[in-house]
Amino acid sequence: MSGVSGSENAAQAAARLRAEIEQHNVRYYVYDDPSVSDAEYDGLMRELQALEAEHPELVTPESPTQRVGAAPVSAFGAVRHAVPMLSLGNAFDEEDVVAFDRRVTDTLRGAGLLGPAQQADYFCELKLDGLAISLRYEDGRLVQAATRGDGQTGEDVTSNIRTIKAIPLQLKGAAPKVLEVRGEVLMNRADFEKLNQAQARRDEKVFVNPRNAAAGSLRQLDPRITAKRPLRFFAYGWGEVHGLPGSQGGLFAEASAGAAEASQLPEKSHGAMLEWLASLGLPVNVKHNHRATGAEGLMAFYAKVGAMRAELPYDIDGVVYKVDSLPAQKVLGFVARAPRFALAHKFAAEEATTTLLDIEVQV
Ligand code: NAD
Repeated sequence: MSGVSGSENAAQAAARLRAEIEQHNVRYYVYDDPSVSDAEYDGLMRELQALEAEHPELVTPESPTQRVGAAPVSAFGAVRHAVPMLSLGNAFDEEDVVAFDRRVTDTLRGAGLLGPAQQADYFCELKLDGLAISLRYEDGRLVQAATRGDGQTGEDVTSNIRTIKAIPLQLKGAAPKVLEVRGEVLMNRADFEKLNQAQARRDEKVFVNPRNAAAGSLRQLDPRITAKRPLRFFAYGWGEVHGLPGSQGGLFAEASAGAAEASQLPEKSHGAMLEWLASLGLPVNVKHNHRATGAEGLMAFYAKVGAMRAELPYDIDGVVYKVDSLPAQKVLGFVARAPRFALAHKFAAEEATTTLLDIEVQV
């Protein structure tokens, strides 16, 4: 589908889609108040991606297909991320997942990291529907917290993050000199409903879904308001890791998954890194994280999570597959706005819009 209609040419269609997507980005990322469902937004983005694939000359660095999120709001201090906070490539069906696994397998076989008959090992996680946060610990102490922003620069939300009880202010045990933890701040559905009822009673803003309630609660200029909001956190990655006590030579290279010296990290796989983060006292979603092999293993995880999704206390909008080996992640690398070693497999549109529609009816 190219997205070109009537007398419009491809360049005009791209400009129209970009303008529309940018407007939705501002509503979603800046005001935490989207005006269309995520499925509708994803549809526009796919139209633009298809158009740009047909007409590569139309791709510009400013296109929303090449960028992450939206610029941070100046009311908060700006934090430059030492390691960029990226988005994820999306899959909507089995064909996309099979194609992802094929690309990964071919690259790793080409690099000699997989034998000719060997399949790739993945670490599978829930795609938590909240907002991404980077927590910076120095000598084990939480010193800074930032939103993703446009991926390069985020908003300083340190005072607000310090009010979330699940987030340790001090890490346990032998912490590195610098550790940036990446994860998701979210709100449970039951807490969201209670919050909205209280907001409605006070004639204050009600939120369209738990994701927007979490983002709106965290991005408050007054941390006392954030402190009253029931926010939770799960860690799923890391940015800069530097200076592990007791390590030979002392210093770790700056590293996000695959961004730098994966071989110098304390652990050699994504799953083991998460176990290490958990050992430092960080909340990790150990109950649902899972190892799988090949596209079949990924599809089995997707089916299992899809079947129990409604029983989870929080919203998820899909699952995430990450190549487990850190040296393999490094070989796979990145495209403009996302790693090549990871994939977000989203749930179908009708399920994805349920929360939004329910809330619209209630309000
Ligand atoms: P994304 O939400 O598809 O994927 C990246 C994000 O996933 C990360 O930043 C992180 O916050 C999150 N995540 C959750 N669990 C994770 C895990 N286990 N590992 C790694 N990351 C995990 O991409 P995006 O760039 O944040 O946002 C794009 C999406 O946001 C769209 O596909 C759409 O669904 C929604 N959106 C909606 C509107 C709207 O108007 N409705 C506007 C903009 C964006």
